[in-house]
Amino acid sequence: MTGSVCIYRSVLDRVHDHARAGYPLEVCGLLLGHQHSGRTTIIHAVSLPNAADPSTRHDRFAIDPRLMLQWERQASAAGLRIAGVFHSHPDAPARPSGFDLEAAWPGYVYLIVCVSRGLPAATAAWTLDESAGRFVEHPIDVALDEPDWVI
Ligand SMILES: [Zn+2]
Repeated sequence: MTGSVCIYRSVLDRVHDHARAGYPLEVCGLLLGHQHSGRTTIIHAVSLPNAADPSTRHDRFAIDPRLMLQWERQASAAGLRIAGVFHSHPDAPARPSGFDLEAAWPGYVYLIVCVSRGLPAATAAWTLDESAGRFVEHPIDVALDEPDWVI
């Protein structure tokens, strides 16, 4: 179970830039990092194409499982893991949708960026509580980058 979520400043900026650039469609990608004693630290964000059906990309996203596998290997080679997934909600709250709940995997941090009229307005981190069948929100600590972790 994930207790707290820490994300590097540059990573959060990158996620926000991506969310802004993709507006009014949803953007998505992977969050790489590590987990120790209930704390998830996110130190790298990988932007990926939104693989959802083009007619639904304004309020849905999907990640190609082949890319997921590829990044799992790449992260592992760098001593990291896929810690979570980020995506944007164009003109919708930074709260998981019913679709997000259906598609969620336990153990991942879901970072959601609300993009309001083209600008990132709020960001929230969630994990799935599988037994309760719902998401739980976690406070986000924004940390200064540690340049050692570069892949
Ligand atoms: Zn969503």
